[in-house]
Amino acid sequence: MARRRRKRSLDFTWVVEIVIVVFIFILLLAPISVKNENIEIGVGEKFENTSKITYLGIDISDKVKIIGEVNSNVPGVYEITYKWNWKETKQTITVKDKIPPEIHLNGGNTVYLQNFDNLASKDPGVVVTDNYDTDLKAKRDIKKISDTEYEFVYTATDSSGNISIQKRNMILAKGEVYLTFDDGPSDVTNEVLDILKENNVKATFFIVDYSEEDKPTIQRIIDEGHTLGIHGMSHDYAEIYSSIDVLMDNFNSLHDKILNDFGYDTKFIRFPGGASNTISSQYCNGIMTEAIEEVAQEGLVYYDWNVDVDDAGSARTSEKIYENFADGIAPNRENVVLAHDGYGHNETAEALPKIIDYAKEEGYQFSAISEDTIPVQHNVNN
Ligand SMILES: [Zn+2]
Repeated sequence: MARRRRKRSLDFTWVVEIVIVVFIFILLLAPISVKNENIEIGVGEKFENTSKITYLGIDISDKVKIIGEVNSNVPGVYEITYKWNWKETKQTITVKDKIPPEIHLNGGNTVYLQNFDNLASKDPGVVVTDNYDTDLKAKRDIKKISDTEYEFVYTATDSSGNISIQKRNMILAKGEVYLTFDDGPSDVTNEVLDILKENNVKATFFIVDYSEEDKPTIQRIIDEGHTLGIHGMSHDYAEIYSSIDVLMDNFNSLHDKILNDFGYDTKFIRFPGGASNTISSQYCNGIMTEAIEEVAQEGLVYYDWNVDVDDAGSARTSEKIYENFADGIAPNRENVVLAHDGYGHNETAEALPKIIDYAKEEGYQFSAISEDTIPVQHNVNN
């Protein structure tokens, strides 16, 4: 009995020993592990190592030694090793550029052209930016859509293979619109300039004499890429059409004042009342006939108009001004539009956004008068 009992207790000890040995083996062999073995982050994103390291389910994160670094500014595959005594585990961090480049279309997504000659050279260009790559270029494909439209397709691919595509329509313009504003500068001029700027439209301003306070407005006209022309120091018909000398001096003195104040040498003029005016005959017979020769000799170019919104006449509302514009412009020609930005012409500024939208939708392009513009000139009646 006693022996038996002893043997039983011996057996029990042996079992305990085995359990202990097995337990030690488990302790020795059990791995440490990291919760996420593979992590992906975007390039430039900050990598914060908050990985949980466990051993037999126990959090030992603050006890492990971390070997390896991640440069999250450079795409690639990085390996981090977590060491705890003789045990270790590994983690892979992939830094990836996941954001495609951005293509900015200079000149917008629709460009109106007079013709398709040397089409590729008429591309206003693109700017490609990327979160990682520098100096990326876009590849351009030119597709013919119809006889009046081409499509430029720009493709930019970054070094990680992210692709961006942008398209631009190159459309044969129905015609050209030269918005011209007479009798400024005034408070209306700044309103007009704001609208032109918002719509990326260039125009021409035939100004009269100006004060010190008007100078910033004139500087804006120049700085924002519009054309500055001369209407004359004075707009008083009786005065300016009294003699050819007075008339020429009326242009020349304003020309010189502008040159002196802004260093801007304008060659463009508009006769008050236009070259076709008959009012001048009340003051000086034949003065217009003489004037157009005199003007040419001075190296000046005079511009009349072939579209009149009649804002200095019977068009008293912005709606009527807009209608006159829409009815007046015609395809396949230069449309030189007479409008006014002198004091009181707020309806003209009010009509302007609709005028611009209409012309653009109809496929016209806007330009400021330049030396390349063929002048629209009336027949002289005096
Ligand atoms: Zn005028």
